[in-house]
Amino acid sequence: MQSSVATTRVSLDKLVSLCKRRGFVYPSAEIYGGINGIYDMGPLGTLLKQNIRDAWKKSLANTNFDIVFLEGALIGPHAMWEASGHIENFHDPMVDCLVCKHRFRADDIDMAKACSHCGNKQWTEVRQFNLMFTTQLGAASHQSTTAYLRPETAQAIFINFKNVLTSSRVKIPFGIAQMGKSFRNEITPKQFLFRMREFEQMEIEWFCKEETALAFFEQWLQFRREFYRTIGIQDARIRVRPHDKDELSHYSSATSDMEYEFPFGWKELEGVAYRGNFDLTQHMKFSGKDLSVYDDATKQAYVPHVVECSVGIERLFLMALCDAYCEEEIEGETRIVLKLSPKLAPIKAAFLPLTKEQVVPMEKIYQQCKALGYELDFDVSGSIGKRYRRNDEIGTPVCFTYDFESSVDGAVTARNRDTMQQERIAIDKLEEYLRRVVIGK
Ligand code: ATP
Repeated sequence: MQSSVATTRVSLDKLVSLCKRRGFVYPSAEIYGGINGIYDMGPLGTLLKQNIRDAWKKSLANTNFDIVFLEGALIGPHAMWEASGHIENFHDPMVDCLVCKHRFRADDIDMAKACSHCGNKQWTEVRQFNLMFTTQLGAASHQSTTAYLRPETAQAIFINFKNVLTSSRVKIPFGIAQMGKSFRNEITPKQFLFRMREFEQMEIEWFCKEETALAFFEQWLQFRREFYRTIGIQDARIRVRPHDKDELSHYSSATSDMEYEFPFGWKELEGVAYRGNFDLTQHMKFSGKDLSVYDDATKQAYVPHVVECSVGIERLFLMALCDAYCEEEIEGETRIVLKLSPKLAPIKAAFLPLTKEQVVPMEKIYQQCKALGYELDFDVSGSIGKRYRRNDEIGTPVCFTYDFESSVDGAVTARNRDTMQQERIAIDKLEEYLRRVVIGK
């Protein structure tokens, strides 16, 4: 099913309200006043997130590269984060207003100006604040050790590199991919799902020989660019921004951010980085374990180089909603519609009996189609117009209506979300229509 593109630029306030109203995202612990930078996913948000994971996984399979998956632990020991450089370097500069005590990220504000909160210009010194959450392992406080909630998923991949190499049949070049939670104690979480304290990442570490690394880096950039096309994101709102020389980490000779034009400006969506062999070398140094690979051709051991692609699921989620949100004037009323790709849409089709008399036959068709494994919805409440609007707002690509004609002509009406055009579809062709036209298989 072709989606027409959304042209409205949605404000974040409208999106936050839609997400809450329709069950995509709720502020976490809301009944206790909420918790800054932490959100819960509602029923539709859970489905959308799963569709994002599935699409990402499929995009890796489509590369035809050798990629295996890993699910690492969330908690890691001090030594591991020391080796990765996070204990020493994972800081943001923090500054407080001495008058109102409001806290800012120093690189977010102009300290030559007054506090945006109270209008005074009295700042504390800039201090470095480590973004990792710590926790104590062990019950007795005098025996407990400090451990850390991971701020990225990647390190679990590096520390398991040799385990994967020796326990599966992969050979260099190959990738290890992972999806899972990360935690960052952001000084100022903001812009809804953009900067959170608890979020999920999808990362791939591609291990290769040094001489092939830059070519793979370019290839991965292309794969990732293509991924955003396949999930229907508007091309003009995505760009690739290579890091300037002074922005690059000391171990990286090439990093590019894929940026999206959010309502609050062009911002990083995904990072693609050539990391050299920094991570494996560091873990070899700190753990004393050999993580090198023996090359049969040269008869020498070497430490593989790595290209990394890393994106936050919720940031991608926010981008998909910003990209799809649309407001249209229809006969004096505003229609809100999420023109999500059917691949991402939480509900693929809604089944609507026109009146109570049509509930039984429509439910039968709904159950048959549901058995195919798609997320579908059966909706009997409210006028048909209201039900269409509700489904437009949550991005359902098609609504099927069983009406007075259906028992006579053996067909239902299919209404397209984007064009609002209607066509009759024979009931015995509905499964095929769903598969071919809506899902696109
Ligand atoms: P930023 O500059 O926005 O803080 P970063 O450069 O620190 O991001 P990375 O460490 O490269 O980000 O993390 C990889 C990806 O993880 C980012 O591109 C983003 O999609 C996601 N991500 C990072 N931090 C957050 C966060 N606090 N909330 C949501 N997603 C995040």
